[in-house]
Amino acid sequence: MSDLKCKLLIIGAGPGGYVCAIRAGQLGLDTIIVDEARPGGTCLNVGCIPSKALIHAAEEFHRITVANDGPLGITAAAPRIDLARTISWKDGIVARLNAGVSGLMKKAGARLITGSARFLDGKTVRVEGAEGVHEIRAEHIVIATGSAPVELPFLPFGGDILSSTEALALTDLPARMAVVGGGYIGLELGTAFAKLGSKVTVIEAEDRLLPTYDKALTAPVVKRLKALGVTVMTGAKAQGFAGGVLSTDQGEVPADKVLVTVGRRPRTQGIGVEELALTMSGPFIRIDQTCQSSMKGIYAIGDVTGEPMLAHRAMAQGEMVAEHLAGHPVEWDKQAIPAVCFTDPEIVTCGALPGEVEGTKSAEFPLAANGRAMTCESEAGFVRVVWRESDHAVLGLQAVGAHMSELSAAFSIAIEMGARLEDIGATIHAHPTQSEGLQEACLKALGHALHI
Ligand code: FAD
Repeated sequence: MSDLKCKLLIIGAGPGGYVCAIRAGQLGLDTIIVDEARPGGTCLNVGCIPSKALIHAAEEFHRITVANDGPLGITAAAPRIDLARTISWKDGIVARLNAGVSGLMKKAGARLITGSARFLDGKTVRVEGAEGVHEIRAEHIVIATGSAPVELPFLPFGGDILSSTEALALTDLPARMAVVGGGYIGLELGTAFAKLGSKVTVIEAEDRLLPTYDKALTAPVVKRLKALGVTVMTGAKAQGFAGGVLSTDQGEVPADKVLVTVGRRPRTQGIGVEELALTMSGPFIRIDQTCQSSMKGIYAIGDVTGEPMLAHRAMAQGEMVAEHLAGHPVEWDKQAIPAVCFTDPEIVTCGALPGEVEGTKSAEFPLAANGRAMTCESEAGFVRVVWRESDHAVLGLQAVGAHMSELSAAFSIAIEMGARLEDIGATIHAHPTQSEGLQEACLKALGHALHI
């Protein structure tokens, strides 16, 4: 066993932890980061990156399948997909990024130790791994242990019952897949499997899919799922799985695999957090404006701190904590956190939704009136702006449509910089691009849209 000391110890090398380590290293803080798995966390290994790789492969395959004899005049031989090869391509991307993250932390001067961490007290952590056992004493400790899929007691993970992690590693395409939970993870993966050729059924307990988004935003997604042959059961509760049949309170669903995506829980158990008696906020660790927990010197970032459980929020928190510990006068002052559903079509939201803030109004510009959308056969959807009536400040931006995720940066910049409708309306947007929808939505809000 070896005893180590450092200024900053980070537990978990997901997007929160590894960004914190890189920035802390850049700022000259003596930093150790520990992870029991490969660096990159859920996001890089079994989340954002693998899911987007599978979504891309499924989309490419589907496009070739439906292009035959379509309006574009393309004829192609019947395509086939070798899912094992697709998964190995995805694994290659993950491996490249694992190495990239390790390299970036090393370059910044942060030391990565592989092993499982557990608090001994508020300043000491025991790490056990293949490299041996370390007791690490640190001035400051950041908990960045992330989250894990929620398991339903009557659908325990294993065998044909999958979490998103196993679904992203399937090398044989299931003929029939039941997806329990119609949130963004279930719909992203369900859509991908439908495009690859599985017969997909989505079972959602609420009365509609993506219940955290408004109906106008989700309507194009629901329509597209129908067109892809996905069966959607809303207000339905799964009850158990046996003999290739998922039972629900609305009847039986034959399925070769059942993907359970009913949410994620913070990983706060088994690491000694209970013994530290940190103040919690429900299942999450409560933090202040600098991500400090109720115990001085202990910080928490990312999914363990609550919603929105998104990689870019974790990263921004990690960067801020490093700056704070280096003595910079920073605190969490973000105006908005963008969120993207990589469904078909994509949904992006940033800031206030219509009706959420008093004294606001909203306007939508349909992509059907956008030339670029027509040339890409992606006319479904719209760009929407929510603005304050008194001063025209843009408080919210949302869109649904193909490739709309790429508008998320423009949305965040506009809100973060306090843009007014007039600012965006007067900004030249390149033609022909779908981003013109943003300018047009603001012009429409001002009462003089040009292309509608
Ligand atoms: P994590 O990424 O979960 O990392 C925590 C790390 O801590 C892990 O590596 C774990 O091994 C380690 N750890 C835990 N306990 C210990 C311990 N005791 N000792 C040592 N190490 C430990 N977010 C987006 O923003 N965009 C997306 O498109 C997106 N898509 C997703 C798709 C899927 C299928 C899933 C599952 C998630 C997706 N997410 C997405 C969410 C995103 O992955 C998480 O919000 C993000 O990874 C959280 O980062 P984190 O640093 O808090 O924790």
